[in-house]
Amino acid sequence: MRPYLLLTPGPLTTTETVKEAMLTDWCTWDEDYNIGIVQEIRRSLVELATDRPDEYTSVLLQGSGTYCVEAVIGSTVRSNEDYLLILSNGAYGDRMGTIATYYGIRHYVMKFEETQIVDPQQVDSYLAEHPEVTHVSVVHCETTTGVLNPLAEVAAVVKRHGKLLIVDAMSSFGGVPLNMTQLGIDFLISSANKCIQGVPGFGFIIARRSELERCKGVARSLSLDIYDQWETMEKGHGKWRFTSPTHVVRAFKQALSELQEEGGVEARHRRYQANHDVLVSRMRALGFQSLLPDEIQSPVITSSLYPHAGFDFKSFYTKLKGHGFVIYPGKISQADTFRIGNIGDVHPADFERLAEAVKECL
Ligand SMILES: *Cc1c(COP(=O)(O)O)cnc(C)c1O
Repeated sequence: MRPYLLLTPGPLTTTETVKEAMLTDWCTWDEDYNIGIVQEIRRSLVELATDRPDEYTSVLLQGSGTYCVEAVIGSTVRSNEDYLLILSNGAYGDRMGTIATYYGIRHYVMKFEETQIVDPQQVDSYLAEHPEVTHVSVVHCETTTGVLNPLAEVAAVVKRHGKLLIVDAMSSFGGVPLNMTQLGIDFLISSANKCIQGVPGFGFIIARRSELERCKGVARSLSLDIYDQWETMEKGHGKWRFTSPTHVVRAFKQALSELQEEGGVEARHRRYQANHDVLVSRMRALGFQSLLPDEIQSPVITSSLYPHAGFDFKSFYTKLKGHGFVIYPGKISQADTFRIGNIGDVHPADFERLAEAVKECL
């Protein structure tokens, strides 16, 4: 059932057992589904994110990760009273700016180079000069390049200024250790098909309960109202407002058990790091250079520069696919790159095999 491995940032390669979990049909009204699956997932997500689970809560929402980013911005930031500062060093940060524009939210996108991290000092200066800011949003791992932003430093600045902090941890949550309580994150967003290693179909928000409780009536979209979705899930003990992706949710529960079996987020992080290390050392030996300096590189996805001008990515891609590996094109304008994802049910030995295949495809 695996014609090739997906070395992509999601959807990614999942285990057979995660796929098999989708072979049962579930009734959305039945407690086997609501209490047995949905509530268990909601509790596990909070426990993964913080050591103070009673102060946080989670909401699951139909759609891809972007739906959840839009739902959080649209359900927490008021159009007239509030002001959102968006920190961006890539396409996902920019997308938050697009969302804010659609909603008519007062905002400012602080832009950084795609090959650099978000600079906490610049954030500090901006917040000192702009008391009108109420919310700050940032992407943890910018999947555009694979850069890992200095979340602890940024969060410390944002909290020192007393602002609400929204973090797009889509491609890092479950694969890079993080503690919402220590960092002071108010809303964290991720989705089923990234580091938890489920299949695509829904995303989730982990929220500081006291802040989410203040969001009643803020949303300007019915289906993307996270307060309403949350209230239904709380009162209905795991009930979704509208049809939920039942099979995907069941697969996600299996994926969460497999994360625990692996040893939790720390163990998964070590595996992703080992994947990345094998990838980079082998690619360097073959003459490839990484786009990013090692100090700001995440273990999630790695961008490589084309080895020479006129490198034919399309043909390289097709040949590699013939060897059983699907990789990802680049996404930045400043340099010609391609990307290889290290997340999913993939292991260092797969990257050893990949390097052999790359050698043959050059
Ligand atoms: C995957 C991803 C998203 C969401 O993308 P979708 O295509 O909507 O699933 C958002 N932010 C980051 C950083 C991502 O990696």
